[in-house]
Amino acid sequence: MKLKPTALLCLALAVFSCRPATRPAIESDRAIEKNVEKILKGLTLEEKVGQMTQITATVIYDRKTGGVNAKGDSILRIYKVGSILNTMRDMADSASAYRKFIKEIQDISLGTTGIPCLYGLDQIHGASYTTGGTLFPQEIALAASFNPDLAFRMGEVAAYETRACNVPWVFTPTLDLSRTQLWPRLWESYGEDPLVQSRMGVAETLGFQGDDPNHIDGHHVGVSIKHYMAYGAPVSGQDRTPSSVSRRDLKEKYFAPFKACIRAGALTLMVNSSTNDGIPFHANGELLTGWAKEGLGWDGMIVTDWADVDNLYSRDHFASSDKDAIRLAVNAGIDLIMEPYSTHVCDDLVALVREGEVPMSRIDDAVRRILRLKFRLGLFDDPYGEKCSFEKFGCDEFTASAREAAVESEVLLKNEGSLLPLDRGSRILLVGPNADSKRVLGGGWNYSWQGNLANEERYTGRYNSICGALKEKFASVTYVPCLSYSDKGNWQDEIREDYSAAVRAARSCDVIVACIGENTYCETPGNIDDLSLSENQRDLVKTLSATGKPIVLILSEGRPRVINDIEPLAGAVVDILLPGNYGSDALASLLCGEENFSARLPLTYPRHTGKLTTYDYRLSENKATMDGLYNYDAKIDVQWPFGHGLSYTEFRYSNLRVDRTEFKAGDTIEVSVDVSNVGGRDGKESVLLFSSDLASSSITPEVRRLRDFTKISLKAGESTTVRFSLDAGALAFVDRDLDWLLEKGEFRLSIADQSVIVNCTQTSKLNL
Ligand code: BGC
Repeated sequence: MKLKPTALLCLALAVFSCRPATRPAIESDRAIEKNVEKILKGLTLEEKVGQMTQITATVIYDRKTGGVNAKGDSILRIYKVGSILNTMRDMADSASAYRKFIKEIQDISLGTTGIPCLYGLDQIHGASYTTGGTLFPQEIALAASFNPDLAFRMGEVAAYETRACNVPWVFTPTLDLSRTQLWPRLWESYGEDPLVQSRMGVAETLGFQGDDPNHIDGHHVGVSIKHYMAYGAPVSGQDRTPSSVSRRDLKEKYFAPFKACIRAGALTLMVNSSTNDGIPFHANGELLTGWAKEGLGWDGMIVTDWADVDNLYSRDHFASSDKDAIRLAVNAGIDLIMEPYSTHVCDDLVALVREGEVPMSRIDDAVRRILRLKFRLGLFDDPYGEKCSFEKFGCDEFTASAREAAVESEVLLKNEGSLLPLDRGSRILLVGPNADSKRVLGGGWNYSWQGNLANEERYTGRYNSICGALKEKFASVTYVPCLSYSDKGNWQDEIREDYSAAVRAARSCDVIVACIGENTYCETPGNIDDLSLSENQRDLVKTLSATGKPIVLILSEGRPRVINDIEPLAGAVVDILLPGNYGSDALASLLCGEENFSARLPLTYPRHTGKLTTYDYRLSENKATMDGLYNYDAKIDVQWPFGHGLSYTEFRYSNLRVDRTEFKAGDTIEVSVDVSNVGGRDGKESVLLFSSDLASSSITPEVRRLRDFTKISLKAGESTTVRFSLDAGALAFVDRDLDWLLEKGEFRLSIADQSVIVNCTQTSKLNL
């Protein structure tokens, strides 16, 4: 058992610092800093404020000429607005259309202030707003691969294809811990765990930016990590609604991926639209300036989310007027204000400075950060993006990477009696609304915000739906939709047909493949009031199960919809999440056994809509009984746990060992385990290392936490030893004083069915 630290021991805590907080996250470049100061000196207040303003492209785009309209001309020339975001027509456009538009913007900006404009796009999971771009799985699916190399590759390819549009800046990665499964943006992030989120986020950041944040080259772009923070933990489960996360949890879990990405060189950060514990993030100086900028020694730039300064007044009643909202936000540390449709920010901010409500030093700090970013992105050097060529845009090599990512991200959740893989000669009855839709594979931020244009020929004509892909692999596929979605109207609407045609067709089939799940949505339109899968879809599975034919459920969905009544009716279940344009081909190869499954759930799949939890729950959530009258009866009862995922082969673990059983701060524990592929097929396996704090006197510990992971590849019959170097600091937690504490006592380290106890011999405060 862990020893409880006495008061004396508490006073005698060893303070172990592995990294001084003041060390800069990005070492500054002298030449850039000199140029920034030179330009800053020559700017008027109006010009500075213009640099701090961002407008959406649709306002300034001329649909006839493909250039800048008269309104845009005055926004750029009179207000000297320094940043534009978004698509021109609320849909994907060609790289050349972006180039033409951005050239006109740059002509005006350079002719007015001499400062290039900063253009930003939501290029999420690939160049999602560029026609012909290579689209990868969404983040939640990449997370399921537990393979950060794939997130890196996605970033690298997307950066290349984004720069092909002469766009230097993207609003990704999303680093929100998706802690409530109802949240409609769950799929935009890497799931519920801080370590997975951090590792994948860092890989994506490096993929997008390259390895020198001071000099982003012409094939890379800057990222905006978002949404700072706790956006994925809304109490109501609805988008952009308040969270109520303790500062302790914020620091230990939610801040972790942001910290990791900032230390890896992330250049900008976007703020969570909502509030936590009553305080809007956009006005939270402690978190914006204190934790991110000063705490991490970070000289990057903070941008608001969409119209969220206005929201401080109009939605949250936190400010007394629009102008007051600007005062609060800028003083808290906001540098660039995304005020999509109006230039009132410019007038109000100038007035606030003149009235002494916002100090000039704060304005200068913000503009410095913006100019520094423009230099780092190479905009002064190559504002028209002419120095690089882009012949690899959409090439086979990029396609192969996106397909590989899809294969590694589709999760086999159930496979009773080895129903899968299916024989290629199997006669398949294919049903369900997700069977012949390309839209459902991509999710939101996919050719349009809501993903609703993705079935159009011009965007996805060359890709397969699941139906198309299965027909290429299997001899006999009979497709009877039974249910479909409409691309117009509400994404939740379903068109139900008589199911009897499918029941008849089932008689002459060997297996039923039911493609069910969700249609696409994004942000608040994706709010739902029931996590259960639609009744129509559950009915369909129930009706077909009466035929007695084996059923394979293929789920494509942005969040885990509850299926507890139909899961028992299926012999196999695959969750392909949102695998992108190559998801169907990947699925067909996996179903016929040409490829092997290797993904794991990066989230907890709930069994009941009223019992939502995460894998790192606290012990009292799972306590069956107590002595005496009171029956405690708290049960964790999930459909599939975090980390669950099957393969066509079998991996056996043995001999988990550590190089030391006693440790203290500063030590590294070398953990090894032998893994053997004892099945009949080659396969990849994600090896996950968990820890359990067996007793803690300051904070009740979680049942377990993921501490490290890696992915290996083993041929049938092959064995290997997997090694992890576990820094003692990885076992620390944030205590009530908001300090990182490594506490004396026992921890269980576990990998699969293996575990070992290690003992921390000294309590220490850490500087992590
Ligand atoms: C979203 C952000 C996005 C921004 C710009 C907002 O509504 O919350 O994730 O980056 O719009 O399009």
